Amino acid sequence: MASLAETEIITRFQKYLQIDTVQPNPDYIAAADFIISEAKSISLESQSIEFVQGKPIVLLKWIGSDPLLPAILLNSHVDVVPFEEDKWDHPPLGAEIDEDGKIYARGTQDMKSVGMQYLEAIRKLRASGFKPLRSVYVSFVPDEEIGGIDGVGKFVESDIFKSLNISIVLDEGLPSPTESYRVFNGERIPWSLQIKAVGQPGHGSKLYDDSAMENLTKSIESIMRFRASQFDQLKHKECLKGEGDVISVNMVFLKAGTPTPDDGFVMNLQPSEAEAGFDIRVPPAADPEALERRLVGEWAPPARNMSLKLWRGDQELARKQFVTATNDSNPWWGLLENAVKEAGGNTSKPEIFPASTDSRYFRKAGLLAIGFSPISNTPSLLHDHNEYLSQSEYLKGINMYVSILKAYTSYALPE
Ligand SMILES: [Zn+2]
Repeated sequence: MASLAETEIITRFQKYLQIDTVQPNPDYIAAADFIISEAKSISLESQSIEFVQGKPIVLLKWIGSDPLLPAILLNSHVDVVPFEEDKWDHPPLGAEIDEDGKIYARGTQDMKSVGMQYLEAIRKLRASGFKPLRSVYVSFVPDEEIGGIDGVGKFVESDIFKSLNISIVLDEGLPSPTESYRVFNGERIPWSLQIKAVGQPGHGSKLYDDSAMENLTKSIESIMRFRASQFDQLKHKECLKGEGDVISVNMVFLKAGTPTPDDGFVMNLQPSEAEAGFDIRVPPAADPEALERRLVGEWAPPARNMSLKLWRGDQELARKQFVTATNDSNPWWGLLENAVKEAGGNTSKPEIFPASTDSRYFRKAGLLAIGFSPISNTPSLLHDHNEYLSQSEYLKGINMYVSILKAYTSYALPE
């Protein structure tokens, strides 16, 4: 049986899940109102900052007894990705709980859980009379799911942010299917590549060199060989590589052929143009210049009548990636591992996040950032149908943050 306090905790989580913050039209105002009223109920200072109209960053503050010490930032994004409602067994904004205690809603894992767990942990610490030495900030940010440019991207560059004197940021990680929690200290950077081949058009019956299709096919074969070489490192356990450690390349579109009015294709014509698109993710350990040379030399060589278009978002991050240290130079890493242990959990070895999160902006601004979502024994259903989190896992995660916040806010040694 859940206690009354636990029922109230779950109800607050459900209320946050039920607010429609689905991209591309998140109700940020309703979410901000809810977060600010929650903050008031635990006596946190709050402000809503709009760098872009209609996209507030809600910033909460729990003042420490030594405000000169650098502070701790707990970050979470408010927006969630869309869903295909008919593929779900429960309404995606319903936050219904099934007989096993699983709460179903978009954002249960990514990452409304984490945002509310930060607040519940502070609520518990406050109720116990705990007083932090360092100040704690809690940020609820918009637009992470669409790149974060108008959210954390603007926030980290602002004078307000610089005045906070943050030394460590906690942000989202990924659920773990095992007992151990996953922790992340870096992430891969997305590259979007489109390659195009042109060549002599010709009769479907004729064998000749350098047709657009032949040129594109040679490139795709080369790209697929590279993909296999990366995938092999994941499959062979002795390589000890995780998903975030290799370069992923996946073909996302193919465009070629001469269409007919009835949605078919002209079958006796070799077309003069052919294109393909790829999603590429580049880990910090990869050499971006070597990859660029491969793009031009092997995947879209001008000598084979190929051209390419490449998008990489932030140009600086595409060239140089920032990784958070996990050794003794970063005391926060060990503090987190110990705090999780003290609360009855354990962490696995640090990983590179396979996709991207707002942490990249914090790291680029020179801050230490750890990706951590306290979700164990749960399949990762980020952006998937039937995203859920069990009540017990959610409550356990709050205790992890209680332990982490105690350790972090009490840490007095110079950094
Ligand atoms: Zn997320």
